[in-house]
Amino acid sequence: MAEKQIHEQSIEELYAEANEHTINVGDVKIHAKRMGGKFRNLKWLSNLVWIVFFIGPYLRLGDRQAILLDIPERQFHIFNLTLLPQDLWMLSFVLLFFAILLAVVTALAGRIWCGFFCFQTVWTDVFTWIEDKFEGSPAKRRKLDKAKWDMPKIMIRAKKYSVWLLISILTGISFVAWFTDAYDLWVDLFTLNASSTAYITVFLFIGGTMFLAGFLREQTCFWLCPYARIQAVMIDDTSIVPSYDVPRGEKRGRLLKGKPASEDQGDCVDCNQCVAVCPTGVDIRGGQQEGCIMCGLCIDACDAVMEKINKPIGLIKYASWDGIMGKEEKPLHKRPRVWVYTAILLISIIGVVTGLSGMESLELKVLHARQPLFVVQSDGTIQNHYTLKVLNKMNEDMKVSISANDDDFKGLTMIGADKEIVAAHGTVTAVTIFVKVPRKNLTEKSQPIVFNVEGKDGQGKLYQSKRESVFIGPKR
Ligand code: SF4
Ligand code: SF4
Repeated sequence: MAEKQIHEQSIEELYAEANEHTINVGDVKIHAKRMGGKFRNLKWLSNLVWIVFFIGPYLRLGDRQAILLDIPERQFHIFNLTLLPQDLWMLSFVLLFFAILLAVVTALAGRIWCGFFCFQTVWTDVFTWIEDKFEGSPAKRRKLDKAKWDMPKIMIRAKKYSVWLLISILTGISFVAWFTDAYDLWVDLFTLNASSTAYITVFLFIGGTMFLAGFLREQTCFWLCPYARIQAVMIDDTSIVPSYDVPRGEKRGRLLKGKPASEDQGDCVDCNQCVAVCPTGVDIRGGQQEGCIMCGLCIDACDAVMEKINKPIGLIKYASWDGIMGKEEKPLHKRPRVWVYTAILLISIIGVVTGLSGMESLELKVLHARQPLFVVQSDGTIQNHYTLKVLNKMNEDMKVSISANDDDFKGLTMIGADKEIVAAHGTVTAVTIFVKVPRKNLTEKSQPIVFNVEGKDGQGKLYQSKRESVFIGPKR
């Protein structure tokens, strides 16, 4: 039989189960009560974001995986974009962006990431939902924990562990699938042809998922997560987080049948339902704590209780401590840290956009030889020595030709550019070029020279890249 929801339970029933739910001090497993509500629905919806993790590797673009983090080939393909190690400087801006985004969100609204998106809480939520389906209400689960290992208990646990294991296997395979062809991976894994790295990674993920989401679960958020430790310095009295309305709720006291509430009694009827539904076993009435992942499930629970006793909802609500205590709340634009965070976010966005917009499929770099800067040939021409580095970011090798702006250098000849040059895909191809110019045609000791590399892909599309260098001669 499905567990009764708060609105279906009498206040006496709520009190009867109130003491079963204890605050998390790390010594007992938390069996949270599951109930419907606004934040519960929001949590399911946000959990769905992780579907991308499972289906992303199966998207195709032409004959390859649309998103492929190809570490052996040192190429990251993201749809039409190919990133090589040379482009990874942009990663620092991307990391900066997400680090600051996390800081901004935490400063404004606490651990929203933890409550709704973090893989640890999402997987734990799914695992405990499965546990709830096989083992029943929190009271039944606690009883089963203490029961001896007879056949019924073995059967229930075997079913639960089997489903957990299945999800863990899928998690491990899905992770590896981002780094190799996803379809081939399945075949290779089951025909024992996958690499040892793939097997080790899948097994590590299976073990890690079972341990962290199945067995350690809320204790990870409470005791292990480093983010929980640093959030205390990121949030302040203006941060909007799940908060218990202390002036309204206190002095808390139970409703006694047939007896009126005392005059100084607040709206909290001490039913413990906010603790009962908390996935990390926090009593939010004690103020903000490290273990609170700000999922808002205690808000759902308390609102249901308030409706039951005909009081306004919102005894626990998303609010700042200043708001709860009736202080004037500073608008966002008057908070210095919002401006600092916004500036850093903008810098990181500009960095990534600049990097992406400046990316070419074919890139050219020119190195002018320093020793010697030039050579005077026996026929009176001046020769300069260059190394041209052609970076081909496409998925196929490409025949390229190299030229220079001979309009500015009458009689210019190039040695090394006349042979067939194949720019290998995903790497840099170095080409040695000697440029000769008759001495009489040089007007300056040092003149700019522009090199051009161009080639066509299999579909006949032209790609080219230009780079300026200098041509150096003797003093005039
Ligand atoms: S805050 Fe709400 S849910 Fe929690 S004990 Fe008080 S009345 Fe019950
Ligand atoms: S105290 Fe409330 S918001 Fe915080 S983790 Fe528990 S249920 Fe979620």
